[in-house]
Amino acid sequence: MTGNVVVIGGGTAGMEAAGLLAKEGLKVTLIEKENEIGGHIKDWYHIFPDRRNSMEVIEYLRNKINHDNITLITGNTINGVEKKSGSFHISTVTGKEIRADAVLIATGFDLFKSERKEEYGYGIYDNVITSADLESMFRKGEVKLTDGEKPGRIGFIHCVGSRDEKVGNVYCSKLCCVTAVKQAMEIKEQFDEAKVFCFYLDMRMGGALYEELYRESQEKYGINYIRGKVSEVGVTISNKLVVKIEDTLAGRPLRMELDMLVLMAGMEMSDSGKLISETSNLKTGENRFFAPADHHIGSNKGNVKGIFYAGACTAPMNITETISHARSAVIDIVDYLRNGQ
Ligand code: SF4
Repeated sequence: MTGNVVVIGGGTAGMEAAGLLAKEGLKVTLIEKENEIGGHIKDWYHIFPDRRNSMEVIEYLRNKINHDNITLITGNTINGVEKKSGSFHISTVTGKEIRADAVLIATGFDLFKSERKEEYGYGIYDNVITSADLESMFRKGEVKLTDGEKPGRIGFIHCVGSRDEKVGNVYCSKLCCVTAVKQAMEIKEQFDEAKVFCFYLDMRMGGALYEELYRESQEKYGINYIRGKVSEVGVTISNKLVVKIEDTLAGRPLRMELDMLVLMAGMEMSDSGKLISETSNLKTGENRFFAPADHHIGSNKGNVKGIFYAGACTAPMNITETISHARSAVIDIVDYLRNGQ
């Protein structure tokens, strides 16, 4: 078949969809705002549930877009998408204009900026890091405290920037519980003698093999799960981190000293997605992600005919769901270009 499709976002969803659209014979322009394609997964070390190296997935996606029908543009951000007499005009912040018959938005998510939860001390105290920082340490093989010492007591705070009315995000980011479980196990593999604590509100393990991973983390690795909300983080005179928490299962307040604290930052609509929604009249939902035309039978379709969505630009999603969502977007785009549906 013939036609031009612009895919905005060179992460997992964008790459998967671009490869499949190109295979259908469509001319695809894949635009990524960063200088390198791959999205968040390229910064991750191991992914759940089987803890495979994320590079294997990146390799798969790179092969997928290695196609003559794909033109890749990196380091450029989309300013707006305008529909004029049935076709789309996509403008970039550098002044580039591209015409397309259909547009796929795959702008993904941004991690919640943990500095906004000042009470947890990110950017204020040493050794308060985010889950993304820890993953980068795993990748470099350098998990250590700022003074170079091994961490002996490590805490993970769940729901940072999610399920939190104060920051305006009442939704669950879906993946941070399982990420904490995975990272807690990986910490124990590096430092067998370490004591690891997860401070959670609820454990939401709604994915294939997640519950099994959670059980393994307790039975094999001895991770301690404490139900309750951390109210405050501070430091002692000897520069140890101190967390205050109400243990809601035991019904008593706790005060614990730790060497390292990992904040499980949630997912938010990306800044690049926000810009497109504002300049292109695309609806967003209460969670501020793109709102699909229909949650059940049109989750890839936008409120403007010919504009489609794939992946975590519509809601938090894991890699498996993102790839499936990208594939279903391709089916909808092909149908639209063939039948105008
Ligand atoms: S997945 Fe877990 S940590 Fe993440 S927002 Fe939901 S309950 Fe909180």
